[in-house]
Amino acid sequence: MTLTVGLDIGGSKILGVLVDGDGAVVAEHLAMTPRGDVRAVEDALIAVVDHLRAATDRPVSALGVGAAGLVDVRRGVVLHSAHLPWRDEPLRARLAERTGLAVTLDNDATAAAWAEQRHGAGAGAPDMLFVALGTGIGGAIFSGGRLVRGRTGLAGEFGHVQVVPDGRPCPCGLRGCWERYCSGTALAESTMPEVAHWLAVGLGGLVATFDPDVVVLGGGLGVPETGLLTHAETHLRDHLTGGAHRPAPRLVYAALGPRAGALGAAGLAATGH
Ligand SMILES: [Zn+2]
Repeated sequence: MTLTVGLDIGGSKILGVLVDGDGAVVAEHLAMTPRGDVRAVEDALIAVVDHLRAATDRPVSALGVGAAGLVDVRRGVVLHSAHLPWRDEPLRARLAERTGLAVTLDNDATAAAWAEQRHGAGAGAPDMLFVALGTGIGGAIFSGGRLVRGRTGLAGEFGHVQVVPDGRPCPCGLRGCWERYCSGTALAESTMPEVAHWLAVGLGGLVATFDPDVVVLGGGLGVPETGLLTHAETHLRDHLTGGAHRPAPRLVYAALGPRAGALGAAGLAATGH
């Protein structure tokens, strides 16, 4: 049976996993993301892949990549990344050329969502929203069991939905984006209860739009210790039309931890969707 490599590339760390056809982890490797140019990052990725391939005698057939940034999935290009030097970077083609593997490229939140929907907190839920609450907000949408990507793969950028007209400026160029009020960055100037309030506000809009079975909260703040979902569960109906008269979706924390992105990237590469 062939193996698949999954990479989760963040602004500070690169996590690689080698998984078999059942999704079991055969090997794992963590590296720091280098502070440097595009080539330095690429070399670090190749080093992680080489390390994982050296850990097995079995054939490796594919490489799946989840990258922190705006990813044009169709073209295999990272359009922009806030924390990495990629600008219109043809990462899929570059990695395919250097590894000789079939490569798939996705956004990191999409990859984590895939893993949670197949094996984690959203397993068995055909209509699932994934909200990754970290420095900003990433997200992904499953509808009818299918990943909803949009035309180019950019669907699910929940963090830049405007919640306050003319509100706080966002590095993306807009104002009043949800992640300016509800994220780790927002916590520098807001209290946890204030962030929880904005979580309920934003989830109200998402639930009204997508009518999910379950909302999975992931990312660094998507852990029970924050208490965020306790508050959001109580106040969601205040921000949802017909809130007292409609069945509420389940709100749950992500189950797979920091490995979710790499596992999902490998899964997307192995299954193709
Ligand atoms: Zn924004």
